[in-house]
Amino acid sequence: MKLYWLPAYEVKQKILSQELKAEEVTQEIVERIRMVEDKVNAFITVCEDEALKKAKEVDKKIVKGEKVGVLAGIPIAVKDNISTKNIRTTCGSKILENYIPPFNATVIEKILAEDAVIIGKTNMDEFAMGTTTETSYFGPTKNPWDLTRVPGGSSGGSAAALAAGEAFLALGSDTGGSIRCPACFCGVVGLKPTYGLVSRYGLIAYANTFEQIGPMARTTFDCALLLTVIAGWDWRDSTSVETPQKSYVEVLDGELKGLKVGIPREMVGEGVEEKVVKAVYDYVFRLEEFGVKWEEFSLPILNYALPAYYLIAMSEASSNLARFDGVRYGYRFPSDGNLDWNDVFSKSRRDGFGAEVKRRIILGTYALSAGYYGKFFLKSLKTITLIKKDFEEAFKRFDVLIGPTMPILPFKLKEKIDNPLALYLCDIDTVPANLTGVPAISFPCGFSNGLPIGVQVMAPPFREDLTLKIAYKSEKILGFDRFKPNL
Ligand code: GLN
Repeated sequence: MKLYWLPAYEVKQKILSQELKAEEVTQEIVERIRMVEDKVNAFITVCEDEALKKAKEVDKKIVKGEKVGVLAGIPIAVKDNISTKNIRTTCGSKILENYIPPFNATVIEKILAEDAVIIGKTNMDEFAMGTTTETSYFGPTKNPWDLTRVPGGSSGGSAAALAAGEAFLALGSDTGGSIRCPACFCGVVGLKPTYGLVSRYGLIAYANTFEQIGPMARTTFDCALLLTVIAGWDWRDSTSVETPQKSYVEVLDGELKGLKVGIPREMVGEGVEEKVVKAVYDYVFRLEEFGVKWEEFSLPILNYALPAYYLIAMSEASSNLARFDGVRYGYRFPSDGNLDWNDVFSKSRRDGFGAEVKRRIILGTYALSAGYYGKFFLKSLKTITLIKKDFEEAFKRFDVLIGPTMPILPFKLKEKIDNPLALYLCDIDTVPANLTGVPAISFPCGFSNGLPIGVQVMAPPFREDLTLKIAYKSEKILGFDRFKPNL
């Protein structure tokens, strides 16, 4: 097998035993990126020089016998809404096209402290608003399994980079499914952690109530390894939660016998493609062979999840994006002094933001306006409370909830981009985990005509270990990590 397809963990072992130099590994990935990037467009920025420099430093440490971190020499791709010091961070937007953060996000400090090698910043829907990575100012990313199809979004670049062998690990962010959706469409593993488990300091905000940074990888083990590195309380993020430091790698092994699984009917009902439903049930039948008990049940409150999500997400986006005004940083409409502040402000925003971002700012501003606030925003907040309550009840009956990640297979580029409502509907199965804050993992459970199908496992808050354990066992049973796209 080519080096670039190996699991991150194996590569690290080879680097530690000096069978491979970290520099060679990074070089190999740089070459792979050169080979396939024209077709895939997973990256907005490739950090070749910085990456090689970091890899050489790791090699030096190893030769000298110094202690190295758990991600020693591993090239990792980072979504372009996570701030990286001295490396441009665009959020997939023209308005931040030349923005270079003066600081690192906490997760970046953590991966660098463990000697990871940042190989580049990945493509994404503009400001993480989207489901296909087509709203990026830097052009769409293509699905490595079929270049005529979307990779999912908004962390489409991170997922595609993994699926195309352009990185061993990746970081994404998930506000309403943006880690799990592309993981599903690209046939990789992606985990949205419990709200508060991973620091969001340095993540450029879209909708604070929902979002989390999370790990993505080609194997569950690698995903657990990366989560172990990035999890933990951070004084700079007031929403982060103090949790005991733990290894998610050590809890992977174990039997699933006696596990109680609930399948919410609303997640496999109307609008879900038959092939997807079949793949999910085939998977659950396999689990049954290992002593897992499952049951369908109804969670009618889920019918309100999507409207509540979009109302709150758009409202928060309208407020969060007010800071992009062409004054402090970002794109500024050129003026030789003949325009007043108001003109520069609105023209900068007119030209700097894309259509989908503007749509959400307008709708969000409307939802928050006097007279409508109670009708829309407040009502949505109340809906969330009800959904949380029903989830708590469900977790008294079941250890985990299982359903499809995406209701449909990866579709063609441009197929839905002019139909925002159709795109929003694709998030039907992913937003509940964001509304309730629970951890949710997506991993492949089957293929249809060469396209991956993903299943989603949700667990009670801070039970990432359970979702990872199930994914790990499933990967062994199904062997999905063996398949690679033909690029
Ligand atoms: N597709 C969803 C949206 O457009 C999710 C985005 C996300 O998780 N960042 O809002």
